[in-house]
Amino acid sequence: MPADVDVVVVGAGPVGCALALLLGGHGRSVLLVERHSAPYPLPRAVHFDDETARILQACGIGADLPGLTESATTYEWRNAEGVPLLRFEMPLQGRQGWPSANMFNQPDLEARLLAKVQDCADITLWSGQSAFDVGSDVDGAWVELEACDCRGERRRVRAAYVVGCDGANSTVRDALGVEFEDRGFFFDWLVVDVRLQEPRVFDPPNLQVCDPARPTTVVSGGPGRRRWEFMCLPGESLDALDAETSAWTFLEPWDVRPDNAELVRHAGYRFRARWATRWHVGRVFLAGDAAHQTPPFAGQGMCAGLRDAANLAWKLDHVLGRPEDAALLETYDLERIPHAAAVIEVATELGKVICIPETEAAAARDASMAPLVPSGGSTPAPPMPGLSGGMLGPGSQAGELFVQGPIGLGDTEGRFDDVVGAGWHLVMAGATPQVAEEDEAWFRSVGGRIVAMGADAEDLGGCYGRWFAEHQVVAALERPDFYLYGTAATGEEVAALLTALRAHFEQFRTSPSAPSEPDLTTTSGGGS
Ligand SMILES: Cc1cc2nc3c(=O)[nH]c(=O)nc-3n(C[C@H](O)[C@H](O)[C@H](O)COP(=O)(O)OP(=O)(O)OC[C@H]3O[C@@H](n4cnc5c(N)ncnc54)[C@H](O)[C@@H]3O)c2cc1C
Repeated sequence: MPADVDVVVVGAGPVGCALALLLGGHGRSVLLVERHSAPYPLPRAVHFDDETARILQACGIGADLPGLTESATTYEWRNAEGVPLLRFEMPLQGRQGWPSANMFNQPDLEARLLAKVQDCADITLWSGQSAFDVGSDVDGAWVELEACDCRGERRRVRAAYVVGCDGANSTVRDALGVEFEDRGFFFDWLVVDVRLQEPRVFDPPNLQVCDPARPTTVVSGGPGRRRWEFMCLPGESLDALDAETSAWTFLEPWDVRPDNAELVRHAGYRFRARWATRWHVGRVFLAGDAAHQTPPFAGQGMCAGLRDAANLAWKLDHVLGRPEDAALLETYDLERIPHAAAVIEVATELGKVICIPETEAAAARDASMAPLVPSGGSTPAPPMPGLSGGMLGPGSQAGELFVQGPIGLGDTEGRFDDVVGAGWHLVMAGATPQVAEEDEAWFRSVGGRIVAMGADAEDLGGCYGRWFAEHQVVAALERPDFYLYGTAATGEEVAALLTALRAHFEQFRTSPSAPSEPDLTTTSGGGS
């Protein structure tokens, strides 16, 4: 049976919208199904990093980001006496062409993404439709939908691929029968979002209060907003805590009261540290919270989900154009699971610093940590991992995130991705050396572009020149998700890099484990 669309994306949260936009932007037909009719209203993410900003730029909302965010340059962790335990300093300008830390209000971002989705001719949005089953066979994938109205009409949609971006309680994940790797680290917190009537300076602006009497998070919630999170102590019930009266009681010591602030919302939630052990079965994929959930202390849950979207989008786009390369999709799990797991480990370690409600344990922590931060000093931010396997080639920086800087090309100036466009990029520190003609033609046929800094493009601000000098290379082969396939230190290595990439794609054609195989058809009930 032919597919109705290229890809069905289940769930129009930030990850589903981003994936739909990245695919729709390449002319792939996408059906985005969402059970709710409006963006999810509960308070959630308040921070995203510069890599996420670059992905949002690729989704076409780069121009909106300054209005949706306020940047942060410090993130401080203090004990009950106010002594700094950790002080992360983030450069205002990150390496991806955006501020390193961006504070925002998730519903505002989601509303902007949804508006963009509605503008995209290749995306059809079906709101009020709940997916209740998925599966795949040799010809494609399918999803069973039920209208969220009193008639509850059911229908089946076929697609080449289905992606479950349906959040932490994912129906798609359940239908696939995928297990979790669970770190067993979880705590209940009360989240409170506030709008102050008068602007106020918070110093430090983003703070974790590691006080065992009440571990508390006090951060920006985006322009004009503040976020407080209060840990539920042993013996307390989150249900009882999750009330307007307790929110105001907890806010009182911060001089936040009903006469000077608006309580936007309060919500209790339990964070988890876990990830699905498989992120695809046959032609059905998982992304975002459906695939992984993290403690919030590194501000990385949504960021990881958008990385999933960026990783999967270019692979699906490639394979939809060249079905014979379907084994490329196997690299999604290989690349994304270890990366997301490493980020969850970082967030868990940070969580272990603050989620200490016992006085003695907190004193032991303080004794071991206080010397880490000399007065006025800072702690290096935990490094974000690169890719440790998957679609990687030769060169010292393979698997690392590349950089984005401002460039000039012809009459156009701006951020690299806006000027050059999305896709594979061979970025050179000077004129292009001799590369095999057939390799270059093939590279261009998969949407690759060659950009020679100082020759056809101007490295405004010197971002690329500095990066090449720092790593002692002359070329970087950047994947469409901004990670480096490989680097070259000499002109000969540049030619070899393109040859290696082409050979890599050729290998996929002979791989025995393409996801197009009829390895599974799942059913979890229902069916039409
Ligand atoms: C208190 C808190 C603080 C956080 N702070 C940060 C932070 O600072 N930085 C950060 O990066 N992340 C943070 N996060 C995590 C972030 O909010 C999530 O990772 C992000 O929302 C996940 O996006 P998603 O699109 O994967 O899932 P969701 O946002 O959950 O979206 C899933 C969508 O799928 C829909 N859906 C579900 N089931 C179905 C179905 N069967 N059929 C159709 N549609 C369906 C839902 O209605 C929803 O719209 C925080 C989370 C919390 C709770």
